[in-house]
Amino acid sequence: MTELSRTRDILEAGDFSEANLAFLLDLRDAEAREHLRATAYAVKLATVGNKVYYRGLIEFSNVCSKNCLYCGIRSGNAEVERYTMTDDEVFENARWALEMNYGSVVLQSGEVSTPAFADRVERLVRGIKELSDGRLGITLSVGEQDEATYRRWYEAGAHRYLLRVETSSRELYARLHPADHDFDARVACLRSLRQVGYQVGTGVMIGLPGQTPLDLARDVLFFRELDVDMIGMGPFLPHHQTPLADGAGALPPQTAFERALAMISVVRCALPDVNIASTTALQAVEHTGREQGLLAGANIIMPNLTHTRYRTGYQLYDNKPCMDENAHMCRYCLEGRIQSIGETVGYGEWGDSPHARPRRDA
Ligand code: SAH
Ligand code: SF4
Repeated sequence: MTELSRTRDILEAGDFSEANLAFLLDLRDAEAREHLRATAYAVKLATVGNKVYYRGLIEFSNVCSKNCLYCGIRSGNAEVERYTMTDDEVFENARWALEMNYGSVVLQSGEVSTPAFADRVERLVRGIKELSDGRLGITLSVGEQDEATYRRWYEAGAHRYLLRVETSSRELYARLHPADHDFDARVACLRSLRQVGYQVGTGVMIGLPGQTPLDLARDVLFFRELDVDMIGMGPFLPHHQTPLADGAGALPPQTAFERALAMISVVRCALPDVNIASTTALQAVEHTGREQGLLAGANIIMPNLTHTRYRTGYQLYDNKPCMDENAHMCRYCLEGRIQSIGETVGYGEWGDSPHARPRRDA
């Protein structure tokens, strides 16, 4: 049986076993790959449609207490100049998002778990709700916290939370993190986020040292088991000031990019109604990476609103794009790119995942 005919059979039957998922993630044949992509795109049109939703990304601080081996802003990187935006600067970014009619913002930062940080995030959430009269949806992405803190922020008005599991393989997780970073704690956080009521987003990096197609297949099954609403995935890209700088054992960026696109398509086919982000890391490898992500099945883009003076401080990986373009320039560039592939922008809408709707309306 050729790769193409087996790909057809799997997708027609919707038979997403571990072995079949791993097969789809490792296709060599160009026609089989294109069949996977086109099928995922058709599933996307039938479930979430061709509207792209924006989440204006505000990277409000690069201070982080963790030391993940892959990340450029890990606490052990003494070369990074640390910054924290003022409340007013964050509100200025949020007001801009509102004026541009973006439906939502994402507040992201390194992980800090102090009472002062919890107070600050609560203040930012309340402030953004107030300045937008409740119109801006707020997603948080500020790492592992206790359930009471998650609850406080939810009650303040945040309604979505992104926390990537990074990999669902315990062994790989242990190799990518210091000994005190705990896989079970991360999964427990995902469960408490759901418990509190958030729409929950998770995801993985693709092309990590030693990561196999089977690991990624298990990641997809992990997403399904956790019943998540949103997925964010992108290629692992080495950062020169980290222990993984040489990329040993990792996929080369171009190969990781292609596998990330395949992963987006596979997730769209296996979990049809979730929101999937077309991430900046895709664009770091190829200029048109985010459009390719949309064509592979993604439906969310997170344009960077962070003040340009802080952007160089928030480099999780090398060659992050748009370091010196301000949010205004990005807006027109991005809209043109989206229209060029026949899609439209869902201005002024929260664009929640249809997967979350039955739960929310219940
Ligand atoms: N501190 C928070 C949010 C910021 S990090 C957290 O860790 O959840 C956001 C994401 O950036 C991480 O989840 C990780 O998947 C991604 N990331 C970090 N370093 C990366 C790298 N070298 N290549 C690609 N993605 C990376
Ligand atoms: Fe900190 Fe997140 Fe980077 Fe880990 S991935 S070092 S938690 S910013």
